[in-house]
Amino acid sequence: LDRVNCVLAVDVGASKVAASVFRMGSPAGIIEEPASQGVEAAVEKAARRAVAGADCEPRLVGVASVGPLDYGGPAIVGAPNLAEGRASLARPLEWVGAPIIVGNDAVASLWAEAVLGKARGLSDAAMVVMGTGVGGAAIVSGRLVLGRRGGAHEVGHIVVDYGSNLKCGCGGRGHWEAIAGGRWLPRLVLSLARGGEPLARLARLGRLTASTLAAALEQGDGLAEEAYKVVVAATAAGLASVAAVYDPEVVYMAGGVVEALGARFLRDVAAKAGEYSLYEVRIEEASFGRLQALYGAYAIAYRPPPELLALNTHPWAPRGV
Ligand SMILES: [Zn+2]
Repeated sequence: LDRVNCVLAVDVGASKVAASVFRMGSPAGIIEEPASQGVEAAVEKAARRAVAGADCEPRLVGVASVGPLDYGGPAIVGAPNLAEGRASLARPLEWVGAPIIVGNDAVASLWAEAVLGKARGLSDAAMVVMGTGVGGAAIVSGRLVLGRRGGAHEVGHIVVDYGSNLKCGCGGRGHWEAIAGGRWLPRLVLSLARGGEPLARLARLGRLTASTLAAALEQGDGLAEEAYKVVVAATAAGLASVAAVYDPEVVYMAGGVVEALGARFLRDVAAKAGEYSLYEVRIEEASFGRLQALYGAYAIAYRPPPELLALNTHPWAPRGV
């Protein structure tokens, strides 16, 4: 058995943490823990359960996480969609006794696409992940774009509506994420509601998700249709900006909102993006569905992108890869 090809992959999301041990590129059981118990506790619990159930001993740990990240920590710092101000990504994983590489979840998701998925061989590609928030990543001229602090790809905070009063978790207004991120869908629906529509009631009860919006759309609900149009337009505007800045051959899309709204959403967004875009925007669904970021965590550990390795300056980072 190739001992190096036993990797503990951890996906740290705003609502849940997922972990799995990948052996020869395939995940064993997927363990999930709610982030509400605290991010560090959820990471440790999920990782311990994944390793306990694995049939190989992890030699590397890959962590794909919501940002912003302090790569010197490594830690999550001031994430707009998390309660904690700071959460260590090493403390809950030190016990594994293997090198840890950390990356933004959208970056890792794109790297999974570049190493294992549809972007193999492409020198220019982008990723947009629409979940609780909206994240992004880009490979430009064969290089992963990361920036000074590793935040050069925070596309969710692109302004798609400068006249909007909808505030983002980061404090800004009119951000793509503040309009189309899963966390804000209830607020969007309420901003469009006139009275006692069933969907508005669900939103007020905190029970409106991308899936309930999709179900309401299928039943021809008028308010759902209106909210959907706004989400499509905001996403199309965001994608036009992504295309203008990075000039990708393809933009891959993943995340809970994309999965819930389905193929129709990708078609509508692609059609609408033409209205805003300098370039034609080619959109494709990413390869690994709800496991995209987990595959990303595996990919950044198994074949670390040099740009990300250079940012991982913390004491647990892999050496001499
Ligand atoms: Zn923002």
